Amino acid sequence: MTTPFLPFALPDVGDEEMRAVTNAMASGWMTTGPVTRQFEQDFATYLGDDLNAIAVNSATAGLHLALEALGIGAGDEVIAPSLTFTATVEVARYLNADVVLVDVDPVTLTMSPEAVRSAITPRTKAIMPVHYAGLACDMAPLLAIAREAGLRVVEDAAHALPTTYDGRLVGTLDSDVTVFSFYANKTMTTGEGGMIVTRDSELAKRMKVMRLHGIDRDAFDRFSSSKPSWYYEIVAPGFKYNLTDTASAIGRVQLSRLPGFLERRRALAGRYFDLLADLPLILPADAPRGETHAWHLYVVRLTDAAIGRGLTRDGVVADLIAGGIGISVHYVPLHRQPYWRDRYGLTSAEFPVTDDAYQRMFTLPLYTRMTDADQDRVVETLRTVLT
Ligand SMILES: *Cc1c(COP(=O)(O)O)cnc(C)c1O
Repeated sequence: MTTPFLPFALPDVGDEEMRAVTNAMASGWMTTGPVTRQFEQDFATYLGDDLNAIAVNSATAGLHLALEALGIGAGDEVIAPSLTFTATVEVARYLNADVVLVDVDPVTLTMSPEAVRSAITPRTKAIMPVHYAGLACDMAPLLAIAREAGLRVVEDAAHALPTTYDGRLVGTLDSDVTVFSFYANKTMTTGEGGMIVTRDSELAKRMKVMRLHGIDRDAFDRFSSSKPSWYYEIVAPGFKYNLTDTASAIGRVQLSRLPGFLERRRALAGRYFDLLADLPLILPADAPRGETHAWHLYVVRLTDAAIGRGLTRDGVVADLIAGGIGISVHYVPLHRQPYWRDRYGLTSAEFPVTDDAYQRMFTLPLYTRMTDADQDRVVETLRTVLT
């Protein structure tokens, strides 16, 4: 009997999501309408603060809208960690702004405030913290640096639902804009989708206009208000970034299930900490006591001892995959990616922590549909590969 391959990630969608999609379709709204409006309200209520929530068809779209609304453009610079997905920063290039990549902290693997401080130039306009793996960045010093230097802050919270910092949910901190992702492998999903949150209603207004072609009202308003249904005004060359009601229907159910998802992710992370403790691995940083880590990713690194015995990340990952375990690497750092490396002439020596982490790191499967037995298999296979 051969054991089936354990996928690296699987979305957790079931009958409730399917019913919600069916209902949304039966209503006749296939695009952005009442369900999306309700999803935005649910999301703002979930964060429990006086926030504008704006649904978009990806986090990438949300990050683009955020930088656009902040007026970031040619000649400006944004600072972000090299250890992220390219989506965090590609949006700056859409606007012809430049990207300054920085190193991370060796323990948390989140953007180092000291590195940010030394990367500031007269052209710097914004910093983009990434809550890597679901652990909050050290936001207090980052926000202090931003305040001092007059910079805007856009949080990439694609991994951070739900994550807390200083007892507050990411999304309610003192940054300008925060963007969440509902991509298929994230802590909740709509297949493709994202949510922007901001307290600034002027920014919210601009992002809503730019979300849909630069039209001054969204489709729901157009067809539902007492104004003539055919009239609208284009105030800018906007984008097509609105989320559909079918996606929002999935999102509303997923959001209601988020506390249960978190509980399962936490339990799995806790079991990994226990079961991997004696292996030659650097285990990920947990959140400080009393804070929430979203556990989107469980990233481990080979120790010096493991490397001293001739183990390599590439070899270990290949052996795990051959052993039937889905493994990934988050991420090939941007300073090693041809586009970013060549555009800015980046070298590994400029990112010693990120580069060292990259050469040791791999990500273990961690998702709500995994059973304890699945997880035991991951650990046993890893034990065999490492010893
Ligand atoms: C997934 C992800 C994104 C992009 O999210 P999409 O919804 O797929 O656009 C951005 N940043 C990080 C760190 C991510 O992991």
